[in-house]
Amino acid sequence: MRELIVLGTASQVPTRHRNHNGYLLRWDDEVILFDPGEGTQRQMLMAGQPVTPIRRICITHFHGDHSLGLPGILQRISLDRVPHPVAVHYPAGGQESYDRLRHATSYWDNAEIVPGPVGEGFVAETSAGRLTALPLRHPIETYGYRLVEPDSRRIVPALLAEHGIGGPAVGELQKTGRLGDVTLEQVSVPRPGQVFAFVMDTGLCDNVYALAENADMLVIESTFLAADADLAAQVGHLTAGQAARVARESNVQTLVLTHFSQRYPDSSQFLDEARAEFAGTIVAAEDLARVLVPPRRPATVDR
Ligand SMILES: [Zn+2]
Ligand SMILES: [Zn+2]
Repeated sequence: MRELIVLGTASQVPTRHRNHNGYLLRWDDEVILFDPGEGTQRQMLMAGQPVTPIRRICITHFHGDHSLGLPGILQRISLDRVPHPVAVHYPAGGQESYDRLRHATSYWDNAEIVPGPVGEGFVAETSAGRLTALPLRHPIETYGYRLVEPDSRRIVPALLAEHGIGGPAVGELQKTGRLGDVTLEQVSVPRPGQVFAFVMDTGLCDNVYALAENADMLVIESTFLAADADLAAQVGHLTAGQAARVARESNVQTLVLTHFSQRYPDSSQFLDEARAEFAGTIVAAEDLARVLVPPRRPATVDR
């Protein structure tokens, strides 16, 4: 099961309808919580999601709308006796903020929280694939994240049967790549890995494109509408149209817009401006929405 569970979608301040940011990515066994803003613990409850499956928390930057929920989530992980270690990634320059949030209040702290600061060349191998990060353009140190599942091959039962292979021999073939004269390639087809990209607060820059390249799902901030494009550039944010152009030029499949400014009461305008630029699937994220990672693409895309 691969899906994004949206916990919050508001930039800067929560509104009556939008919580601060928060995004839970369920990628088979790897469950990653991105940018837990204030109120994330309760939003997870409202979304019917326990904290126990979380393996990793990724923070783009230490502005409150992306990180004030960290203390509550960590305390809950401890309270619920999550049995496995939980890695927390965040900009290395924000170590002081991390330390404060990590020990914000007093409680019986028995969780295994493993800090994994992000700097240049950051790579973490996860059960879902390789997690990397690139710096973005924002007033404080900010990183976007990219998760790349390795390409592999899928065995086709009909091809196995054609070569008279069955039973334990299949495992042997998978392990060694060969069984007598038959190679793994002869009985399987390419299974291209999927890509997830998470781009929060940033002005438009090359790394936005680098993170989004060939993403099956791109979650990206679209704080402003075109009418406020100058303001967006000034304060280090994107418009819906810019986010959608990134999606088009980067060969994205599913575009998830979020981090909306409270100045716009109607989110349909974000969709309208994005649709003019991008023909793929577009979702204007709402709190507690679930967005499926799209089906695997055919094996023609380079990554
Ligand atoms: Zn923000
Ligand atoms: Zn910010």
